[in-house]
Formats: sequence, structure tokens, C-alpha cells
Amino acid sequence: MDDNKNVYDSVLDLVGNTPLIKLKKITSNCKGSFLAKVEAFNPGHSSKDRIALYIIEQAEKEGVLKPGDTIIETTSGNTGFSIAMMSAIKGYDCILAVSSKSSPDKIDMLKAMGAKVYICPANVAADDPRSYYKVAQRLHEENKGSVYINQYFNSLNGEAHYQSTGPEIWGQTNGKITHLIACSGTGGTISGTAKYLKEQNPNVKVIGVDAYGSVLKKYHETREFDEKEIYPYRIEGLGKNLIPTATDFDLIDEFVKVTDEASAHTAREIATTEGLFVGYTSGAAMQAVKQLNEAGEFKDSDVVVVIFPDHGSRYMSKVYSDKWMNEQGFFDSQNEEAAQTIQY
Ligand code: PMP
Repeated sequence: MDDNKNVYDSVLDLVGNTPLIKLKKITSNCKGSFLAKVEAFNPGHSSKDRIALYIIEQAEKEGVLKPGDTIIETTSGNTGFSIAMMSAIKGYDCILAVSSKSSPDKIDMLKAMGAKVYICPANVAADDPRSYYKVAQRLHEENKGSVYINQYFNSLNGEAHYQSTGPEIWGQTNGKITHLIACSGTGGTISGTAKYLKEQNPNVKVIGVDAYGSVLKKYHETREFDEKEIYPYRIEGLGKNLIPTATDFDLIDEFVKVTDEASAHTAREIATTEGLFVGYTSGAAMQAVKQLNEAGEFKDSDVVVVIFPDHGSRYMSKVYSDKWMNEQGFFDSQNEEAAQTIQY
């Protein structure tokens, strides 16, 4: 079977090597060329397959992880799905502590892959014993022989992107990339990719996308943790109420903040203009591109790579639900969108 190029040992062989897809209509008013790195093409439908595989295989190499052992993680859903998928294939138990902000669809998907899920309140401080960090830590301590992936504080997170996402983008653009636009959650994607790209060409400009209600942008500018920046917001996977050590702030040139509402509309716009059904943070990243373009950031010769971290199917009860959009008040100014359903 090995000589057949389309037969794989498992889906693990399909992690990474995602396509860069040209954006056309949604960027028609923008200066420059825009390419989306569509991470939904990973078998677990997000960029998190890369870090899950890299960290698990590193632990296996070091002999820390043996079949039958337990893998524990805190996750907004995507990393959990990737770990659950890999645990099913490789024979590990998977325990996930998730935020109550995660989409119900995401949580059901984790359970479908055989994971045990603990749902923890979203709007408590990171050091609160109910927070998903603390719950995961406690489970790790109670569960002898378990491995805690700890993506926010694990340097292997960025290393996974340094080894894969960075070289892929450099090769796919023939070294012509001028800007990288990526959402920052753990910061692993942006930091690892930026490190590789800046080693090839220090002039590549790296722009992080942050949420209103998150501390990252302010921390980048002042190197101070400002609690006043923190308040609830809706986008999952983007921004943070703590400073992750997995983020290398020195490699990020600037941060742009985007709103929940604009990001939701832009995610929907990506689907209807480009035919790409992607997640909420892809909408956030694209929204940042629009704001940067309006601010005069790009010129015609620029080659801008935007990371689209996951697939739209994970947001059917949120961004892609008219009911949810209405409940958030997101249709107030754009009633024509809500009127798309015609009932007979
Ligand atoms: N988008 C989504 C949907 C995510 O789940 C994450 C990860 N939390 C990110 C973006 C940000 O990626 P990173 O953690 O590598 O900064």
C-alpha cells in the first residue's frame, strides 16, 4: 500500500501542509495581495492539530507518554479536539477542561471523539480554583502518570509552528511574504511562525489580532499587566486574561483589536464572498486586515498572509446562527442579513 500516494497510515499523516488560498472579492478594495492559510484543511479542522501532534510525539520520544496514559489539557475546543483525535488513534485517555464560553457544538465534538470534558466558568480569574487552568492542574496532580499539554505555558507550542507553519508559508510565497496577520490566543501560532519568517527576512511585519476585553495589546505596548483591560467578550480562542509565556511579544510588531460584532459579520462575509466556511477568529483576522487597510498599512506590492485558524462548522450555534446573531444585537444595523431566510 505504501507505494500508493493517496493511502495513509492514519489521519496523523495529513496534519499540516495546508493550502494558501488567494482572497479576491473580500479584499477588492484593499491594496496588496492577500493569501489565507486555511487551517481547516487539517484533519482535525484547525491549526491545533500541529501543536497536539508535535507535543504528543515529543512526550512519546522522551518516554513520558506510554499507551494507556492520560493526556490532560485546558482548551477552548480546538486543541481538545486535536488531542482527543490523536488519543483515539494512539490509545490514550483524554481529559479536557473547557471554558463555559465554548460552543455547545465544540463540546459535543470533543465527547464524540471519546474525551472526558469538564466545563468551567469562563468569567473567573485565571487563579480561581474553578478556572479551567486550575481544574486541569488539579486533575493532573491527582492523576499519576498523566501528561499536561499546558499550551499557554509550553514552549513546544510555538516550536510546532516554527517547524511547520513558518516554513510552509515561506515556501508557498517563494519568500515574498511581507506581512503576517494572525490571531493571538496562546500566541503559539504567531510567535513560532514569526520566528521562522523573521529569521528568513527580518522585514516581514508581524501583526497580532486581539479582542476588546483582552490584555495582550496593552501588555505588548507597556509590558504591564493591566487588569482594567479585562472584561467579557464573545470571540473564542482569541485574546487572553493572562500573559501566556507561549507568546514571544518581541516578535510581534503590533497588535490590532477587533470587536465581536465586526468579526462576526466579517466571518459571514468570508463565506459568501470567498466560499470559505471558516471560524469566528478567521473573521477577526480578516476584520483586522480591513482595519489595517483603512489605516493605510498596505501597498500594492505587499504579499499579506492571513491565518484562518479553524472551520465554520464549529460555530453553527453562534456566528452562523441568525438567532444567536439577533440575540447579541448584531443584526440591528444589518437587518438585510437576518432577512435571508424566506419562509413559505
Ligand atoms: N483561533 C482559534 C479558533 C483558536 O482556538 C485559537 C487558539 N486558542 C487561536 C485562534 C489562536 O491561536 P494561538 O493559540 O496559537 O495563538
